[in-house]
Amino acid sequence: MTARVLDGKTLAEEIRRDLAIEVAELVQGGVQPGLAVVIVGDDPASRVYVASKGKACVEAGMHSETIRLPASATEAELLAVVDRLNADPTIHGFLVQLPLPKHISSERVLLRINPAKDVDGFHPMNVGRLSVGDRTAFRPATPFGVQQMLIRSGLETKGAHAVIIGRSNIVGKPMASLLVQDTPGGNCTVTICHSRSRDLPAIARLADILVVAIGKPEFVTPDMVKPGAIVIDVGINRVTDSSVAKGYRIVGDVAYGPVAAVAGAITLVPGGVGRMTI
Ligand code: NDP
Repeated sequence: MTARVLDGKTLAEEIRRDLAIEVAELVQGGVQPGLAVVIVGDDPASRVYVASKGKACVEAGMHSETIRLPASATEAELLAVVDRLNADPTIHGFLVQLPLPKHISSERVLLRINPAKDVDGFHPMNVGRLSVGDRTAFRPATPFGVQQMLIRSGLETKGAHAVIIGRSNIVGKPMASLLVQDTPGGNCTVTICHSRSRDLPAIARLADILVVAIGKPEFVTPDMVKPGAIVIDVGINRVTDSSVAKGYRIVGDVAYGPVAAVAGAITLVPGGVGRMTI
């Protein structure tokens, strides 16, 4: 079997076209949606990601603002920016790019964001609303992107056994919350695995939908995948490769080639979930 490739680039373009129509309607009604992103420090991956978000906003007809603070910024300075954005009527949503420098408490910063503007959905209020099945809750971008990928690819989730490898607050846990709800793209039986799970390959082999978000290059091998399963690779890992000019390449948490020979559908890295997240 050769797996169907779930193409994040095409699906993301489709979402952006839909979004541009909704934004145009709002603008016609006198409201230009405004999204701000706050970035602290110089993490190169975060910078690329934030720049892509700003560009996508403008292309969709939205007002976009990027606030850059140096890595030396204090927590008080960042909280002052959060307070300003909470009060700014031209900004309807904003996010603070994670990870933050170690001297700043992400928890205190996330708690300070007005839940009504918390587009990343990391404020405990929105985590709770998602967990109780509130369909208007903000959903974290990466797992929501995965769910959209399943829906827009016409893949049935109802009744499927979804196994998620990774239990982070930004990917694994909200992914489970989304897949278990009684909604389109939900109604799965969900199992979450982590580094302490016993006999993880056997659990993974039970999955109709296998979502992998652990940050370990090519961790999932074909023996961990049920033939015909849908495999969603969230991982983004840089591995040394002296055969290319830049000296490295990007791989996922799934050994793409061998697993694609077993799976029914699979995402690319890059060009998969990352595109949906933006
Ligand atoms: P975290 O480091 O926060 O969490 C990793 C999770 O994986 C933890 O729950 C950890 O378990 C689990 N884990 C680690 N090693 C193993 C193992 N050997 N077996 C089973 N479970 C394991 O990572 P994130 O969730 O933030 O990110 C995961 C990956 O996804 C990274 O590669 C990241 O770059 C990528 N990512 C991609 C995004 C995208 O848009 N495509 C967005 C966000 C992240 P435990 O809790 O027990 O330690």
